[in-house]
Amino acid sequence: MKLDVAIVGGGIAGGTLARQLRRRIPTLDIGVFERGTDPDFKVGESTVEIASVYLARRLGLSTYLYEHHLPKNGLRFFFDDADRGTAIEDMSEIGTDGLPFHPSFQLDRARLDADLRRMNAEDGVLVGTGTRVTKIQPGDATRPHRLELVTQAGTQTVQARWLVDASGRARVLSKALGLPRVDVGHDLCAAWGRFRDVVDIDCVGTRAWRDRVRGTSRFLSTNHFCYPGYWIWFIPIGEGLVSVGTVCERAHWREDLRRSEGLLAFLRQHRGPATLLERATSIDTMSRANVSYGTTRFFSRDRWACVGEAAAFTDPFYSPGSDFIALENDMVTDLVARDHGGAGVGDLDERIELYDAFMRLRLDANLALYRGLYPVLGSFELLSLKWMFDIHCYYNLWLHAYLLEQHLDLAWLREQVRLREPTLGMLDNFGRLFRTLEHELRTRGDYHRGNHGRFVPALTGVDLVEEVGRARARKQVLRATGACCNRVRAQAKALAHGGPGAPAVEPMPLFAYMSERALLD
Ligand SMILES: Cc1cc2nc3c(=O)[nH]c(=O)nc-3n(C[C@H](O)[C@H](O)[C@H](O)COP(=O)(O)OP(=O)(O)OC[C@H]3O[C@@H](n4cnc5c(N)ncnc54)[C@H](O)[C@@H]3O)c2cc1C
Repeated sequence: MKLDVAIVGGGIAGGTLARQLRRRIPTLDIGVFERGTDPDFKVGESTVEIASVYLARRLGLSTYLYEHHLPKNGLRFFFDDADRGTAIEDMSEIGTDGLPFHPSFQLDRARLDADLRRMNAEDGVLVGTGTRVTKIQPGDATRPHRLELVTQAGTQTVQARWLVDASGRARVLSKALGLPRVDVGHDLCAAWGRFRDVVDIDCVGTRAWRDRVRGTSRFLSTNHFCYPGYWIWFIPIGEGLVSVGTVCERAHWREDLRRSEGLLAFLRQHRGPATLLERATSIDTMSRANVSYGTTRFFSRDRWACVGEAAAFTDPFYSPGSDFIALENDMVTDLVARDHGGAGVGDLDERIELYDAFMRLRLDANLALYRGLYPVLGSFELLSLKWMFDIHCYYNLWLHAYLLEQHLDLAWLREQVRLREPTLGMLDNFGRLFRTLEHELRTRGDYHRGNHGRFVPALTGVDLVEEVGRARARKQVLRATGACCNRVRAQAKALAHGGPGAPAVEPMPLFAYMSERALLD
């Protein structure tokens, strides 16, 4: 069998890539090889804006998503006191008070994987389920890749011009190539499961508490209960099921979280989550150590690529997993289309190198939001400041660029890659600022001070929500980032000062944030 593109793995990364390739170049011979037969429960239900645009617009799944999955009401964060005894309606909260302007979705992953397989097969993609890829003989730009497939019917060999590894944590191609899983210095573990009969968060609390968010559905949000060093999520996935889990630094991990009784008992040690889980029954439980890891390579001149968890994964706190898939799949599709259209080797190779360098920048920039920062999560005052910075950067820099498809534009990519060190320098400076503040608040005994009764609308700090995705001059984008840096630094200084009469803070130009410096001096 000879294919233009062979995709190993029929999860969300492989399934969406096959659909995208099919839509872009209907004449391509595409094969998706998936070892499983019936998709089962998988984590990764919460999408954010980039992935949602990708699914809805690029893949033409908007109506499908509204009909078969749930519209999401943004990310929402709740804060507890030190003994984890605060009632939900007394917790401070960061969250939306209306469905956000840019949509996102809560996915039933088992359903999405199954539907993508069916849709792809109907569209003429060769979808082999119950088909395990057991051997890979990597090719290059001149020789096809060879894959050995094992099914109940026997063994078969396939040749393909392009090979895409979408096999998730199995990392089938990376293993065949001897590419290591890169330790990114962010040691996280997680346990989660599906639960039935979870109390509807929109039915707890007082009228005033519901009015605080103008009656919008908190149930539809990705709800985070935040603690120092770990957090707990509640995500609705439809048909009466709710995904509930916890992600923690290794120091907080306990082996009994791997079992449903252990997980439920742990969750119920927190009054807020316990209220929601009062009558809940567990359907299944899963767990994972080594949640975060990196890669040395996303795309190669040898006509292969790794997408989704076959490449890397950072941290689920802001649900970025499917955003990475959107970017990677766009890039693979672009490369395959150019190759198919007869692009010269030089043009293709330059793109491959730039796409690869950009994804490594994107990975490192995303990691900088979480690495070493889990101790910050449990304080409303700290996280609301950090959130203001993170969500502004996400909207102003990453989502905006994605909506304009700048991630496929060579000039834009060259500039991003050239600015790698300054960009990471800025993120590291703010990471250090939040860590210093955390130390300061703990020393003063103020860490949990703001955790009661306060509310910040999630997009308060993003004064450009409706401009995102419209043409804006580069200097407007940079000016907005600079203004955000100055706002956050001024508020951080006031917080560090600890009371009224904080000294005025001189604004700095954006470039001053981009080389290593202590922002609280
Ligand atoms: C705790 C946690 C929470 C997360 N939460 C989110 C979230 O809210 N939102 C989000 O976007 N992301 C989230 N993620 C990340 C998310 O899980 C991934 O982005 C996504 O599931 C990756 O999809 P994938 O297609 O790469 O891998 P998978 O969905 O794992 O698919 C890989 C497929 O490859 C198949 N396969 C493996 N080996 C072979 C072989 N040899 N031959 C054939 N087939 C093979 C497997 O059977 C599987 O179906 C989370 C991750 C974790 C750990």
